[in-house]
Parts: sequence; C-alpha cells; structure tokens
Amino acid sequence: MVNSNQIKTKEEKEGMKALGIVRKVDNLGRIVLPKEIRDTLRIDIKDPLEILATEDSIILRKYVPGCTLCGEISDNYIMVKGRRICLNCSGAIYKKMKP
Ligand SMILES: [Zn+2]
Repeated sequence: MVNSNQIKTKEEKEGMKALGIVRKVDNLGRIVLPKEIRDTLRIDIKDPLEILATEDSIILRKYVPGCTLCGEISDNYIMVKGRRICLNCSGAIYKKMKP
C-alpha cells in the first residue's frame, strides 16, 4: 500500500508548493503578485524578475545579474540548478568539498 504522503509531484520535489492563490490575467497580460509573497521574498517595486518557463509552468524569480553567490559579472559561469555560479565561487566550493 502506498502512503499518499509519500507521493510527491515534480514541483513538490523541487520545493514548490501550491499556495491556493488564483489570479486572473488582465487584458494587457498582467497579473498582480500577492503582497504576502512579495513581502516574503522581499520583492520591491521596480525589482527585476526573471521569467522561466517549462512545458506547462511559468516561474518568476528575483533577477540576480552575475554570479548567484557573489554578484560578480563574468563571461564564464557554470550553471547549477538554473543558477549562475562564477568560476571563483565554483572553485571555492570545490575546495571546501575536497577531503
Ligand atoms: Zn561568484
């Protein structure tokens, strides 16, 4: 027998959860982000948001130009779970991981 608590959707496995909030798109294609979410994620007026899309979902996240960890703008990044990491930071992580 399978416990329903053990069945997770792809979104749940990635840390996303349905908030039970439904908003309609207006005639210009806009939606309002709920204030509670803006407050929790510290999204302020005029903050840039990055739009990502999957086959059936749209993901909005705070836009952080450059390296996710240090903010440095570089020509070379490695991508880890959709986040940009500069070579200096990836090297620092690698050094910490070495036995
Ligand atoms: Zn960095």
